[in-house]
Amino acid sequence: MHMQNDPDITTQKTRTSPWTQLWFPLLVLAVSLVSTFFLWRVIDHGIVDRAEYRFRSQAQEIASKVIKRLHDHEQVLLGANALFHVKGDTVTRDEWLRYVSALRLSENHPGILGVGYTVWLTPAQKEANLRKIRAEGFPEYFIRPPGDRPAYTSIIWLEPFTWRNQRAFGYDMYAEPVRRAAMDKARDTGETTIAARITLVQETDQDQQYGMLMYVPSYRQAMPTDTVEQRHAALRGFVYSPIRMNDFVSSTLGKLPTDLDFEIHAGETPSVDSLMFSSRLADKRTLPEGYRPIFSSTSTIEAYGNIWRFSFNTLPAFDVELNRSKSLATLFTGILSSILLSVLAALQAHSRRHALTIAEQMKNAKEVAEAAKAASEQASRAKSDFLATMSHEIRTPMTVFMSAIEQLQYIDKDPAHQQLIGLADQSSRRLYALVNDILDFSKIEARRVDIDEDWFNLRCCLQETVAMMTAKAQEKGLGLLLEVSPAVPECIVSDQHRLEQVLINLIGNAIKFTDHGEVKVSVRGRDGIVEFAVSDTGIGIPADQQETIFETFSQLDSSSTRRYDGTGLGLAISKGLVELMGGRISVRSRLGQGSTFTFTLPVKNPPAESLVGLDQNEMPATTDLPEAHILLAEDNPMVRDVILSTLFRRNLRATTAETGREAFQKWQAGHFDLILMDLQMPEMDGLEATREIRRREACKGKRIGIIGLTAHANHNIQQECREAGMDEVLVKPFEAAKLFEAIERYLDSP
Ligand code: ADP
Repeated sequence: MHMQNDPDITTQKTRTSPWTQLWFPLLVLAVSLVSTFFLWRVIDHGIVDRAEYRFRSQAQEIASKVIKRLHDHEQVLLGANALFHVKGDTVTRDEWLRYVSALRLSENHPGILGVGYTVWLTPAQKEANLRKIRAEGFPEYFIRPPGDRPAYTSIIWLEPFTWRNQRAFGYDMYAEPVRRAAMDKARDTGETTIAARITLVQETDQDQQYGMLMYVPSYRQAMPTDTVEQRHAALRGFVYSPIRMNDFVSSTLGKLPTDLDFEIHAGETPSVDSLMFSSRLADKRTLPEGYRPIFSSTSTIEAYGNIWRFSFNTLPAFDVELNRSKSLATLFTGILSSILLSVLAALQAHSRRHALTIAEQMKNAKEVAEAAKAASEQASRAKSDFLATMSHEIRTPMTVFMSAIEQLQYIDKDPAHQQLIGLADQSSRRLYALVNDILDFSKIEARRVDIDEDWFNLRCCLQETVAMMTAKAQEKGLGLLLEVSPAVPECIVSDQHRLEQVLINLIGNAIKFTDHGEVKVSVRGRDGIVEFAVSDTGIGIPADQQETIFETFSQLDSSSTRRYDGTGLGLAISKGLVELMGGRISVRSRLGQGSTFTFTLPVKNPPAESLVGLDQNEMPATTDLPEAHILLAEDNPMVRDVILSTLFRRNLRATTAETGREAFQKWQAGHFDLILMDLQMPEMDGLEATREIRRREACKGKRIGIIGLTAHANHNIQQECREAGMDEVLVKPFEAAKLFEAIERYLDSP
């Protein structure tokens, strides 16, 4: 809106092509859509990666539990074989029974049908075996299947000797090829082996399950077992267990998982014949038609002479837990924010153009031009309201973005992800800064910025601001100096926050556009004006562009490959703020040598004089006031000193307190005639201290005068002071005469 007064620039601006006017909103849209997409990918990947990790860990845990359970069972068989180590061939059926019943198989090892012993027989030993077992009380005993074979085995003990296990009594497992292969391997290697997959002879027609048999070879103790031949010769038989797969796997896992499906095959290539276990068959589960698992995995483990192939798939229950809607929510919120943001930027550009167009069309007719100004101001105000609402709406989801990214940074430690998340973090911060800048600028443009004038310590403020920027300068190896001339007042009345904002922006730019040398902040004072200069030894600004750089979105290097990031709003905001504070800003620069940005601020009298009007000439020549004991509660040491020295001029002494609580305690302990009470104090404020004093006073029956001291002229605050129990309120800065009048009133009144 400042452009209206400058016809040259107006003309120049209105001639710009639509593309020039649209590039910024489009850029904002593109940048924020890209950041949104990027952030969504990061969040979505994070969710999927974590889910995959959960899936793989669960799969791995299942496979290792099953294999570990087999190892545990092998120990049971080795224990049984140890009976032969102790007693040789004299182990009896009864001892076997006692060993096995002590194991409590059905409770501790579900799925293991029993622990048995199958004896190794040559054709010559067959008859003796038949006689021996029949003599033990089993006249029906014979070796199955019948027929002459070069070698036999016969299951003579299988405990518990249940009806199911009795079906295996006398069965020659060596006659069946799968079993025979596993037995041969166990005999030849001396290792435990498993025959899989087989149908156990214990199976009936109901509830059929695939089965396997675990064999531990048992050799005669006295014979050597170093070579394969020696092991053949020494073989006594096999300690073994029949295992029903469904029962074994289900009991191993406690409960079959509901969110994933798995199969176990014996053999590297899965086939119908190699299937040992299927959780879907075991659970009698059906899948929705066309269902495709999100994750699948296969692992193979070699154990007991077999390759065990575990394959896993996720089930619909897993997908529900995955909850990708979170990342979709981010995507939608992001797209929405991006659109709002670009609308905001477009609106910004449009309302500016609108005002300029009106101004140009009407520039010769004074009244009409005034009408244009009113229209522009109205448009500007409407825009400012819209921007305030929009930026709030945008900031809310932005906050969610930023905290989501922050959480991701904390949760996801994967270095590759960390890098991506870091980029997303940077982009979101930039976007956030941009929203804040746009809002700031539109407020300034609509003259909706409140300048809070209050006194503050300028030297401290300068030191703190420079200290804050030092790390940034050091990162680039630049010096950052502060030079304050003695003529600069210690305290000034102005808007500290806005002054800091301008300084930070100028120092930030100076650091950004300087690669070598230093940045210097010099402050000088003269005739009620403080002049701030921020100079650098950086890239400089061409003479013809020094005028325009205070305009919005003016960046000297606007190419897509530009080296310096930024929004092009910083200087426009700084200019607006300086002017609102009553000052001027300008730049001097030489290309390649550096720039100096200078701005002035008119300063009101420093508070030491203004606060209570210490000037002797202003003081009414009055007599000393009656002797009185005053309690002065004020946390600011400077204000305290000023009031004390003012009181001293009329021979008044005061005890001081720095907090409301201290004031209350001192009032309780001492005898005071009057209290001067500041409002804003740490621990307990002046209002609260006054209320406390009034509450306690009710019992004492004597009322002390309390004069409140406040920097707020606001009517509501004065009302609040009176309600708290203050008798009078003085608004800072007040004249000494006003203070004495008030004191006099309260010292006189009993
Ligand atoms: P930005 O966010 O791009 O820094 P500003 O409004 O703060 O926006 O600055 C506008 C442009 O003025 C910058 O892009 C840069 O080209 C130029 N500029 C500002 N300060 C300096 C400096 N100290 N040295 C050189 N160029 C500067």
